[in-house]
Amino acid sequence: MSSSTSLKFSKPVVPIVACLMPEFGIGFKGKLPWRLKQEMKYFKDITTKTLDSNKRNAVLMGRKTWLSIPPKFRPLPGRLNVVLSRSNPEWEFTQTEEEEKDEKNVVHANSIEFALKKLDTEYDDIERIYIIGGGEVYNSSYNYCSHLLVTEINTEKALQMDTFLDTNKINELFEKSDDLKDWQKFVSHTPYTENKVTEGEYNYSYQLYTKKK
Ligand code: NDP
Repeated sequence: MSSSTSLKFSKPVVPIVACLMPEFGIGFKGKLPWRLKQEMKYFKDITTKTLDSNKRNAVLMGRKTWLSIPPKFRPLPGRLNVVLSRSNPEWEFTQTEEEEKDEKNVVHANSIEFALKKLDTEYDDIERIYIIGGGEVYNSSYNYCSHLLVTEINTEKALQMDTFLDTNKINELFEKSDDLKDWQKFVSHTPYTENKVTEGEYNYSYQLYTKKK
């Protein structure tokens, strides 16, 4: 499917992902293969901050990514958490006791397209919809997105990976912005202006990929 047949939403739909380059590896055995504090802070700031102080963002994720977040840290605060699962037929299904504590912050959906339509049309308080993983959800989201926020990670460390982004699809649909100003503009409502970070044995940079015309 080309970008011209993509579904268009009025709100920005933006996957945000940290990848080991050059193969775009994102996970191993259900977990992140690294622990990068500054990168986690970037993820938190970008997905939480809004241009309009009366609004919040949504974070859309697959069931496995939801379960990979330690229970005491979920739902992710200050954001509407949307969890995808095909095994449940309804938009909202029975919530667990733990989720009931923060009912307004968690909803469930059985289709990515349905979730995006719902967030786009029925949630006036949502500014951006961030897709936060994992591999299956990222790789089925590209037709709905105008941009990707990719943290490109390089390291000498030998890391095992079993979950990857679909590089063919990304190269077909998106191009990386060469101009740092594009990324700076996209995150201008956050404190971030420098995109290169060194943390321990890792070098990484925050990048913006834009849908090809
Ligand atoms: P996901 O988190 O993508 O969850 C997959 C599950 O989500 C499916 O089994 C299904 O649930 C549900 N689902 C997926 N797509 C849809 C859809 N279109 N409609 C409805 N439900 C859907 O799992 P992955 O295994 O692909 O990814 C997890 C890995 O990704 C982990 O290693 C994690 O650490 C990593 N990750 C990496 C990130 C990074 O930035 N590097 C960020 C986030 C995660 P059900 O089975 O219930 O039907």
